[in-house]
This record gives sequence, structure tokens and C-alpha cells, in this order.
Amino acid sequence: MDGCRLAGWLHYILLYTPTLHTRKPQCRSCRANLVKKCIIADPACELCGQPEDCDHLILRCRFAAQVWAALPADTTGASVRCLWNIPRPTTVPSRHYSSFILLVCWLLWKSRNELVFQNITPSIGRFWLACRDEARLWSHRLKTEDRQIADAWCSLFSSM
Ligand SMILES: [Zn+2]
Repeated sequence: MDGCRLAGWLHYILLYTPTLHTRKPQCRSCRANLVKKCIIADPACELCGQPEDCDHLILRCRFAAQVWAALPADTTGASVRCLWNIPRPTTVPSRHYSSFILLVCWLLWKSRNELVFQNITPSIGRFWLACRDEARLWSHRLKTEDRQIADAWCSLFSSM
């Protein structure tokens, strides 16, 4: 899956889906939206207790903030609506940077779901191992000549 298709998939499945009525993007699965839909009553993040919207889940929750800070990626003022504006850490190759961002977001989403559905507290060590394993899988979707980029991601995740 190339970067554009992957980005579209992530936005469709996980983050924002324009509604027919408003044409505005809405977070699909975060607790704030589930409260709006009267599916749950409490929007509190299960990790930190702050209201869980998508920006919180992917960028601001203490675990997500720890992940971005470790890369290091400055997410000040960032939003899931424009993830591509997160400045690229010098340790991350510029080619396929959007896929790298999506990979980190995907693993943050999975960590959140492990907490919500399996009561598994996020672990930064386990997170980086999962990123490395996922990068190895995603490397098979890259052109042969680009696979060294996934190798660079794996090296970065292994060094964390
Ligand atoms: Zn939180």
C-alpha cells in the first residue's frame, strides 16, 4: 500500500470521516465522538482521565507525548488533521516519511485499543518493539529499492 492509499485508509478507518450532513471531518472512534453518539457516557481517556478526542489519543496523551518526544518529533500545535506538518526528526529518512508517521499513529491506536479492550497498560519498550515488527511487515509493501528505508526505521526503533 503506498503512502497516499495508506493515509486515506487510516483517516477513513481510524480518525476522521466526513459525515453526510456536515461534510466536516469527525473523529470516528475516539471516546469524545462515542459520547456524542450516546454510545458511552464518559469521554475520559482510560490512561490519563483527560477528554479523549483524536488529537489527545494520537498526540497529547502522556503515552503518545512520550513516544513523539523520544523520536524526537515536535508535535507542538500539531493535529491529526495535518499529521504531515510534524517536522521530520533528522534520524528518519525523508522518503516515505508520511508512512513512518502513519506507522507510529497505527501503533498508538493499537496500544490504546490494547488498554481499552484487554486492560494492557502501554509500555514504551513494548511499543518500540511493536513499531519495529510492524516496520518489517510494511517494508514488503515498499519497492525493493526503498526497503532500506524500512531498515532505517527498524534500526531507529531498535535503538529506542
Ligand atoms: Zn490520555
